[in-house]
Amino acid sequence: MTSGTEYDAVVVGAGPNGLAAAITLARAGRSVLLMEVKETVGGGIRSAELTLPGFAHDVCAAVHPLGLTSPFFRSLDLSAHGLQWVHSSAPLAHPLDDGTAVVMESSVDRTSAALGPDARDYRALMQPLASESEKLVDDLLAPLHIPRHPVSLLRFGRSAIRSIDSFVSGQFKGARARALFGGLAAHAILPMGQPTGSAVGLLLCAVGHSTGWPLARGAPSESRTPCSGTSLRSEEKCAPGLMSTPWSSFRGHTRCFSVSCPVSWLR
Ligand SMILES: Cc1cc2nc3c(=O)[nH]c(=O)nc-3n(C[C@H](O)[C@H](O)[C@H](O)COP(=O)(O)OP(=O)(O)OC[C@H]3O[C@@H](n4cnc5c(N)ncnc54)[C@H](O)[C@@H]3O)c2cc1C
Repeated sequence: MTSGTEYDAVVVGAGPNGLAAAITLARAGRSVLLMEVKETVGGGIRSAELTLPGFAHDVCAAVHPLGLTSPFFRSLDLSAHGLQWVHSSAPLAHPLDDGTAVVMESSVDRTSAALGPDARDYRALMQPLASESEKLVDDLLAPLHIPRHPVSLLRFGRSAIRSIDSFVSGQFKGARARALFGGLAAHAILPMGQPTGSAVGLLLCAVGHSTGWPLARGAPSESRTPCSGTSLRSEEKCAPGLMSTPWSSFRGHTRCFSVSCPVSWLR
C-alpha cells in the first residue's frame, strides 16, 4: 500500500465474499483497497498447479452450485473472463458401505426411481422446490429483506427449520435417501441435532435438480474471480502479501469496511 494513499474502504481477504464486497463498493463509486495475503486471489475457490505444470487443481471448493445461481455472481460477466461452467447429468454420488452408490441425477424422477421406499416422498418434496429454486435463491441469498416470494419461502421453511436428524428420520425410511440427503445437509457444518440444519441440504438438492452443480473450466484463479480485468477498475487495488500490515496503520487513513474471513471463524 502506498503510504499516504486514502481509500473509501479496505476489504481484507480476496475470497468470493471479499471480492463481492470490493466489487459492490466499486460499483457504488467508492475507491477500494483489497488486501490478500496469498499470491493469488480467490480464497477457497482458488485453483493452483499442485502437481505438474499445466494441471490446475482446486485447492478447496470444487463444485459451484451457488457460484452459478447467486444473484450477485450472475450480475458479473464472468464468461468474458474465460469462465465456463461444466455440468454433469449426475451432480453427485454418495458411496454406501455395501459398495453401491446413491446418485443424484439432474432429473428428480430418475433420482427418486432409485430410492426404493422413498421414491414418492422424495419426488413430492423435491419437485416443487426444484421448480421454484430460482425464487428461493433470490430470497435466501439476499441481505435481510421482506421476502419477494413468501409462498415459496414458506414451503421451504417448513422443512428447512428442522434439524438434519429430525428431517432425515421423519421424511425418509430407507438408507439410500437418508444417505443422499444427510450427506448434502452435512455441508451446513452444524451439529446433526441443531434446528435449521436441513436448510442447506434442501437448497443444494433443489439447485442440483434445477440449475446443476457445475465445475469451473478455462479460468485461471484471477479471472475465475474477477480481480483482474474490467471488474476491478481504476480506483481499486488488489494488494498481495499485506497480512503483516498493522490495523493501526489504517486509523485516520481510511475506514475498514469489510473484513472477510472463513465463516467458521465467526462461530
Ligand atoms: C474443504 C472445503 C471444501 C469446500 N468445497 C466447496 C465446494 O465444493 N463448493 C462451494 O461452493 N463451497 C465449498 N466450500 C466453501 C467455500 O470454500 C467458502 O464458502 C468460501 O470460500 C468462503 O468465501 P470467503 O470469501 O468468505 O472466505 P475465503 O474463501 O476463505 O477467503 C478468505 C481470504 O482472506 C484471505 N485472508 C485471511 N486473512 C487475511 C489477512 N489478515 N490479510 C489478508 N488476507 C487475508 C485468505 O488468504 C483468503 O484468500 C468448501 C470449504 C472447505 C473448507
